[in-house]
Amino acid sequence: MGFVPTMGAFHAGHESLMNAARRECDHVVVSIFVNPTQFTDNTEFGRYPRDEEQDARIAERQGADVLFAPEVPEIYPSRFATTVSVAGELVEMLRRTGLTKDGQLTGMCTIITKLLNIVQPDVVYFGEKDLPHWVAVERMARDLNLPQQIKVLPTVREPDGLAMSSRNVHLGENRKKAVVLHQVLSAVASNLKAGETDAAALRARALSTMDFNVPDGGVTLEYFEILDRDTLEPVTAVRAPVILAIGARVGDVSLLDILRPELPESIRPADPMAALAAGPRQSRESALTPQPSN
Ligand code: AMP
Repeated sequence: MGFVPTMGAFHAGHESLMNAARRECDHVVVSIFVNPTQFTDNTEFGRYPRDEEQDARIAERQGADVLFAPEVPEIYPSRFATTVSVAGELVEMLRRTGLTKDGQLTGMCTIITKLLNIVQPDVVYFGEKDLPHWVAVERMARDLNLPQQIKVLPTVREPDGLAMSSRNVHLGENRKKAVVLHQVLSAVASNLKAGETDAAALRARALSTMDFNVPDGGVTLEYFEILDRDTLEPVTAVRAPVILAIGARVGDVSLLDILRPELPESIRPADPMAALAAGPRQSRESALTPQPSN
């Protein structure tokens, strides 16, 4: 059984998760629950886009067998008193870099635990864009011996590069400006590919060209980080695979986006399989050692 937990207001990003679940599993369950404990701001919770009828049509079209859309009191009955929270370095890192705010991850981990217990799926699907979510869920699954397999799928984008998000409907006249998030990520990725590996230089070059924080710009940068892909620690120089993460407020809408950039050839590890195939005298260690470029 494949399971796609969501907050509804479906777009092509949600559809790609449902589609993968349909391809890979015998049964597909999709949930819609706008989780109040995941919002740090009540107004944001109140105005989160909701359209259950349209969502039901989309889920059906994507081959979902069950659409589970519980009401808040069903999930949080009176005297509800238990939460699941992920702590430790990884989460501290997410908090320090601004990728998550206090309470958000506890709200998310608690609702995911409840949904997993209710639905009892084998595989759970997440989108790569919401990095704090899948990072915390992967850690929670490992720490609590959850039996589910966690799958993380690529971000689906609008033609101009903006990551699809249910919140995009609130962008209004700022819609065009929101593309700046993807532009920053792409600029850093191309400078990195061209050989610039100093994190401060990459950051300065990408951000200086962007229209942030100008009075009528409508875009306020909340964070931009170059994180080690394994530890999520901000790096000072790129030496191994990284994740680029950006968060910004566009008008009054909070958006986030991430990208896993290609490394420049100078630090890209040689293809270990090709090196191993080259002959028995090639040791595994040397096959895995990054090769200098010509
Ligand atoms: P949400 O309804 O925003 O809570 O998202 C439900 C799931 O869909 C999460 O796992 C998200 O990461 C994923 N998702 C949201 N936007 C996208 C996107 N543009 N591409 C792929 N997955 C997405």
